Amino acid sequence: MIQEIVPGIFMIHIPLPRTPLRELNAYLLCGRAGEKDILVDLGFNLDVCEDALRSAVEAVGADAGFDILLTHFHPDHAGLLPRVATDETKVYCGKIPQDMIRQWEQMRDPLIGQKFLRENGFDLDPAQFKHVPREFRVDRQKLLSSCRFQELREGDVLTVGDYQWRCLETDGHCEGHICLYEPNAKVLIAGDHILGHISPNITCYNMGSASSLNKYLRSLEKVAALDVRLVLPAHREPLTDCLTRIKELQAHHAKRLEEIKTILAAGWQNGMEITGKMHWSMHPTNADEQIRLYVFALGETLAHINYLLEFGLAEMSESDGRRLYRLK
Ligand SMILES: [Zn+2]
Repeated sequence: MIQEIVPGIFMIHIPLPRTPLRELNAYLLCGRAGEKDILVDLGFNLDVCEDALRSAVEAVGADAGFDILLTHFHPDHAGLLPRVATDETKVYCGKIPQDMIRQWEQMRDPLIGQKFLRENGFDLDPAQFKHVPREFRVDRQKLLSSCRFQELREGDVLTVGDYQWRCLETDGHCEGHICLYEPNAKVLIAGDHILGHISPNITCYNMGSASSLNKYLRSLEKVAALDVRLVLPAHREPLTDCLTRIKELQAHHAKRLEEIKTILAAGWQNGMEITGKMHWSMHPTNADEQIRLYVFALGETLAHINYLLEFGLAEMSESDGRRLYRLK
């Protein structure tokens, strides 16, 4: 489905099979006659995503071709890049998380291979995980070697058609995430920083000194200070009340922190034990999905625990590569 959501800005639904996200919203920002358009986010490395993207671009009629902007490098946004970018395509993005892209290729499955799983009590028998999803496989070599990346930094401005998009660095959902803000139209292209009706996954990847949740909450504050009349998220419906959504997301994480503090008050526990005691809204429909959701849930739990550790509200003990946590 394609919809001109604001004059010169088309929303394109890209199917994301076998995920609770259901679809990616890609956005086509139309350039002036003879100028290239810019396509924001792409979809998984799957034929069904490529077909949806190409037919939408054709229907809109991007005659001069398009450049690409990635809000971040997760496979549901960047997976198609090696397939659709040509030597002529400029690829705008935030800081490129080389480590994360490397993981896509090195690990049989980028989620299951994470070190933090074992450290936190998630002992998975690899035989349990039979189907490596195709959508997570990306041609990393091509992605890193042949794409013409142009990194954007906070405050950089990208002019497309009648709009002047300002880059906002919004670390949190992942490292190097960016949003685009158009101050005259008051439109925010939010990537996975703010989503409609679902909360963005905040997990426990290494982001230097601050926890990912701390960075995420700071990035939310940054957006809360802007005058936004329309949020165009990468998943689910556009939002007209940005501030209310931000308050909901802040409340969601505050509630999660309280929930974990209550659990940690019972004494030393590993990450999986804590995850198992928390309330989750998504429920798996098959064994593979169950493993995947556990990984996401554990990552989310640890992001909150790391926040408590950072602010001295919890403590961790580690021996033999196993971690335990309790309330301080
Ligand atoms: Zn996404």
